[in-house]
Amino acid sequence: MREQNHKLQVRKGNELYVFDRSGRFMLFVAKGHVVRRGLDHRMLDIRIPSSGGLPARRYREIPDTEKTNFLTKAYQIAQKALQQTEHALSDKWTPVLSLMTVAEMSRDKERFSRTYLPVSILPPDQYHSLVIQVSHGCSYNRCLFCDFYRDRPFHIKSPEEIQHHLAHVLDFLGKRIDDRTGIFLGDGNALIIPTDRLLHMIHMIKSTLGEDVATSFHTFMDTFNLDYKSMDELRMLHEMGLQTVYVGFETGADRLRQFLDKPGTSAEAVEAVTTLKMAGYRVGVILLIGAGGTSFVQEHRTETWKALLNIPFTSDDIIFLSPFYMPEHTAYHAKIDEKGLCELSDEQMEKEIQIFKEKLSTNTPATITMYSIKEHLY
Ligand code: SF4
Repeated sequence: MREQNHKLQVRKGNELYVFDRSGRFMLFVAKGHVVRRGLDHRMLDIRIPSSGGLPARRYREIPDTEKTNFLTKAYQIAQKALQQTEHALSDKWTPVLSLMTVAEMSRDKERFSRTYLPVSILPPDQYHSLVIQVSHGCSYNRCLFCDFYRDRPFHIKSPEEIQHHLAHVLDFLGKRIDDRTGIFLGDGNALIIPTDRLLHMIHMIKSTLGEDVATSFHTFMDTFNLDYKSMDELRMLHEMGLQTVYVGFETGADRLRQFLDKPGTSAEAVEAVTTLKMAGYRVGVILLIGAGGTSFVQEHRTETWKALLNIPFTSDDIIFLSPFYMPEHTAYHAKIDEKGLCELSDEQMEKEIQIFKEKLSTNTPATITMYSIKEHLY
């Protein structure tokens, strides 16, 4: 048992339980098994087979009764371990964990929904950032594979709405705000917000949360609306602290882009990312591996490689390989059926990921890493 970064880590055999500074359960890790709890009290069960890579992982949201049983056991294990540990650690953490009951944690669901609309997705390196929803939804919202924001219209918040949101965030997280690193501006393409309004929002966030919390800013942007911003505006935002822009590049194959109802061409997407690089940003470029099924595999692969070679990546950039998962609330199924296309099996997906990894890691200085939308939990 030990404390690290204001978190309590409890070991029992090969199992590790982690609790945050408020005493809330955060994480369980065992061989081939991970359980994570989100700020909204949802809990995700991840099973990791010893072979097969990311596509073979299985994900499940834990239902309420099982959640209660799991948490009850986790707290019993932690309290027992505390009784057997050195005084200082026990004196500090025993009362903290005693106050945090399962009933208290389950109230986070309602507290969260008073503060946020669902945080549908984040890049994996932003799971620990503090999300501030300066806008809701995506201004396009029609990519065939994307159902992240189908539940809400696009809306840019007024200064009053932002102030209200920030007050709720402060109240909801309390001291836990210090555990978040950097600010992620939500939702789906916040960089589309007119520059003067966005600059004002960043200023409000800094002055309300303090520059110790608002150390850096990050956001998503689509690849087809960036021409609303001039180079001067992009540089101004960068100087204000906006550091990373994550773009859903998806594919370099124009035929596949059209199939996916993704606006613009691959050449325009390359130009958009290049513009961000010229303005000084770190970029996260997301590729959708397996999109369009087996018929598009070869075209997707070769056209994407060709396109990415034209982007002036640097070593701080990231290229994310995101395995394609069938969306639930879009017309993608109908289109796949109409065209008679076949999804990739887990094995085909894994092979494709390896091919992309090898090719890109030898041809770009960017870091190549995985991005499973199934692992996201804020
Ligand atoms: S993929 Fe991006 S641009 Fe397309 S609908 Fe989703 S959030 Fe919007």
